[in-house]
Amino acid sequence: TPFLAAQAAKILGLGEECVLDVGQDDKPWRIDLDKLEPALKEAEKNSTACIIAISSGEVNTGRFATAIFDMPKIRSLADRYKAWIHVDGAFGIFARALPKTDQFLSLRACVAGMELADSICVDGHKLLNVVSFLSFFLYMFSTFYLLAVLICVNPGAAYLAPPPSSSAAGSQEDGIFGPLNIGLENSRRFRALPVYAVLKSEGREGMEAMFSRMVFLARKLASFIHNSEHYELLPETENHVEEDIFMIVLFRARNEALNNVLVDRINQTGKMFVSGTQWQGRKAVRIAVSTWRVEVERDAKYVEGVLREVAESFVEA
Ligand SMILES: *Cc1c(COP(=O)(O)O)cnc(C)c1O
Repeated sequence: TPFLAAQAAKILGLGEECVLDVGQDDKPWRIDLDKLEPALKEAEKNSTACIIAISSGEVNTGRFATAIFDMPKIRSLADRYKAWIHVDGAFGIFARALPKTDQFLSLRACVAGMELADSICVDGHKLLNVVSFLSFFLYMFSTFYLLAVLICVNPGAAYLAPPPSSSAAGSQEDGIFGPLNIGLENSRRFRALPVYAVLKSEGREGMEAMFSRMVFLARKLASFIHNSEHYELLPETENHVEEDIFMIVLFRARNEALNNVLVDRINQTGKMFVSGTQWQGRKAVRIAVSTWRVEVERDAKYVEGVLREVAESFVEA
């Protein structure tokens, strides 16, 4: 998602000019390897460090930057040009936890090879349904590297327990480092606990069932919208491929006047909440399915009822 990368670059003081969009022309969410290699080559020529940012679950469309066999190729490019691979898997990475059935074959292909990344960020407060401010940062390297990053270790504070790095970095007996030395915060609640509870109570089977229900609901809604006279499923495709849908459904109203007020009209029903966005310069609406409470048939009927009601009661001014 280029705008998120631009935001990060601005916060770091690098400036958004250093973000280069290497998406495919017809599928902007997919990484274009033919654009990536020249960009890396150019950067190497200028001795510029590069991060290859992969949207594994892109915010607008819910689609994925990679398909099967892409990650090994990206890894070898990254090795050749000494770039870092970062995966934004805020919600998309959970596609890896879907059952190994044909229905999820193409989604699982989109997240295949993610273990080749240097770092991956994941949100717990989306698909795992735990409280907000709960994210993970996974990285390839030993905690030693993070201890070595100055901003994480408390070097001069005598009143704080010495970091394990001062004695035996990376070889603490239980392999678990105090959060004090591997993060930015000195004080924080035991935020990992709710995640532990979810994983423990649901188990692999429970998680598979929960994510499957979310995907099936999103796919049902996408099909409804695709076949609707009032709405248009986005990104525009001749054939709606059900297997491509994960848990975001992007769409707009065919009637431009309705489309301009669609987010408000839907949310004013008080029956559901959608967020507004833009798709190729025009207003669009996003449904994001992200709750353990999903019951596919019941909820599909409910949402379809709202969308029908909004379209049929719309009177052009
Ligand atoms: C939600 C989201 C973010 C932002 O993460 P927060 O932890 O909620 O701030 C980044 N990337 C993607 C793809 C997201 O869906």
